[in-house]
Amino acid sequence: MTTQRLERARAAMRDAGVDALLIGPSADLRYLVGYHALPLERLTLLVVPAEGDPTLVVPTLEAARAEEDGADRHVALRPWDETDDPVGLVRDLLGDAGADTGRLAVQDRLWSSFTLQLQAALPGADWVAGSRVMRALRLRKSPEEIQALRDVGAAIDAVHAAVPELLRAGRTEVEVGREIAELILEDHDEVNFVIVASGPNGASPHHETGARVLTTGDAVVVDIGGTRDGYCSDMTRDYVIGHAPAGYEELHAVLEQAQEAAVRAVRPGVPAAAIDEAARAVIRDAGYGDRFIHRTGHGIGVEEHEEPWIVGGNDEVVEAGMAFSVEPGIYVPGRYGARIEDIVVVTDDGVERVNHRPREIVVC
Ligand code: ZN
Ligand code: ZN
Ligand code: ZN
Repeated sequence: MTTQRLERARAAMRDAGVDALLIGPSADLRYLVGYHALPLERLTLLVVPAEGDPTLVVPTLEAARAEEDGADRHVALRPWDETDDPVGLVRDLLGDAGADTGRLAVQDRLWSSFTLQLQAALPGADWVAGSRVMRALRLRKSPEEIQALRDVGAAIDAVHAAVPELLRAGRTEVEVGREIAELILEDHDEVNFVIVASGPNGASPHHETGARVLTTGDAVVVDIGGTRDGYCSDMTRDYVIGHAPAGYEELHAVLEQAQEAAVRAVRPGVPAAAIDEAARAVIRDAGYGDRFIHRTGHGIGVEEHEEPWIVGGNDEVVEAGMAFSVEPGIYVPGRYGARIEDIVVVTDDGVERVNHRPREIVVC
C-alpha cells in the first residue's frame, strides 16, 4: 500500500515542479513508508527524488526500528554512524536536485534545527513546504483508509458503550480516565487522549482530566481517541451523574439538532464553511451563539487533527473520500459544557458516519 503512496507522492511532485521531497519523523513519514520514527536530535530523513530511488537516511541505532516498522520494504535504508555527517549525506543523495536549479519540498514540521542546516548546505535550492506535495494525498482517503477509519470508529464506539459503568459519584476524573485508557487499549494500539471534563470543567473544551470528584447532578463531557492500525479515532459523548443539572437537557437538545444539521449538510461540493454554519445557525437561533467557541470540525486520518478544517471562512469544498469530525459544542462557564462528536466520511453522494452510539445524554 505505501509503495503506491510513494508513487502518488512522486506524481504530485512532478505536478508541483518539485525535484525532491524531504520528510522527517512525522505523520507524513508514517503515511509514506509506515515508519513511526521518534523525533530525535539525530537526523532521520526520507529523501524522495522525483527521478531515482527514495532513500531513508536513519541513525544506525534507529535502523532496527525502521526495519521493524517495515520501512525497508518500501525504500532503501542508509544508516549513518555517530561520527558521520548526515546533512552532507543528504546533500550527496540529492545530487542535481539540490543544485541551484532544484526545488526542494521540506516536510512542514521538520525541526528548524535540521531545516536550517540543510538550507546552509544547499544554499542555491528553492525551498517550499512539503504540504505542497503531501496535502492532496492525505486529504482524500482511499477505500482502505476509509475502512480503517470505520474499524477504529467501531472500536471507540465500544469504549463509549462501557463509559456509563465507570462514571460514579465519588470517583475522580483521573480514576475514570485511567480506566477509559485501559478500555481504549483493548482494541487500539495507542491512546491519543482522554478528556473527562466534569461539572464546570466541561466548559473548557480541552480540559485536562484532573482531581475533581464526580458529584450527583454533574454533566460530564467524555472526549476520547486512539490509534488503531495507523488511523485515529475521536469521539465525544455527554453523560450525567444521577440526573441532569438545570437547563442542561434543553441545551443538549439544541446541540443534538445542531450536530444532526451539520452532518446532513455534508455532501460532495459543499464548502467546509457551510457545514460549520449549519451547526452554528441552530445554536445561534437557540440563543447560545456566543457559547460555541470553536470550529465545527477537523480532518482525521493518520493524525488526530489534519485538513480539512470545518470552519467559517474556509470556502474549500469537501469531496468524496474526505474524513472529518463534526463536533459542535456549547459551553457555559462555571456550570457545564456539552459536545457531540462523530467522524464522518464524504461519500459519492452524501455522508457516512463512522460512529454510531446514541447522541442523547446518557444518565449514569
Ligand atoms: Zn480538540
Ligand atoms: Zn474529540
Ligand atoms: Zn475532534
